[in-house]
Amino acid sequence: METGMLLVISGPAGAGKGTLINLLREWDPSFVFSVSCTTRGKRNYEEEGREYYFLSEEEFDSHIRQHDFLEYATVHDHRYGTLRSEVETRLEQGLNVVLDIDVQGGIAVMQKMPSCVSVFIYPPSFQDLLDHLHTRGTEKEEEISKRMANAHREVGQMGEYQYLLLNDTLDTAFDRLKTIVQAERMRSSRFHPVIPEKRDTEN
Ligand code: 5GP
Repeated sequence: METGMLLVISGPAGAGKGTLINLLREWDPSFVFSVSCTTRGKRNYEEEGREYYFLSEEEFDSHIRQHDFLEYATVHDHRYGTLRSEVETRLEQGLNVVLDIDVQGGIAVMQKMPSCVSVFIYPPSFQDLLDHLHTRGTEKEEEISKRMANAHREVGQMGEYQYLLLNDTLDTAFDRLKTIVQAERMRSSRFHPVIPEKRDTEN
């Protein structure tokens, strides 16, 4: 069986990663989202096991000791980690897996799984990010400042990614993402078409 595609999505907070990933999964349900572990508190719209597995520091440490993580990193003062179990078996089953992780994690995954497809989503301006974080309203001012500082750092590393995707309007950004996925599916390393002598005329 063919192995699935591992799609690594990174980009600053407020760049629209989550929305684009949801659109991708609606468009192609063979993409499953890798639910990460985090030690940050749950936001009121979030559900355990849907956005994240919300863990205590001790539980997180225990996963580290058991080598359960493909990668883990500290982001905005909290710890986040990608579980191997969310990624490896699914790829072996031929499913496509999409990760929403920060640049430290993205680079670690690129090193461990070089056949992954890496996409960095960037905004038209830093002001757009700031406006988006204010409209989203999930973070306090101090948290927003942290995310803006981190955004500048992350953008400085975007050259590590294979694809740089501008999110100026959602429709065009989603078209760009579909283009990447469609092209990646046609890679000779990913599939082996069997060409018959004649076309099957019954279809
Ligand atoms: P938030 O707390 O706003 O959901 O996410 C904060 C940041 O953590 C985002 O940049 C997100 O991509 C990143 N993140 C989420 N899960 C993981 C993970 O498993 N590993 C790493 N390295 N970063 C993650």
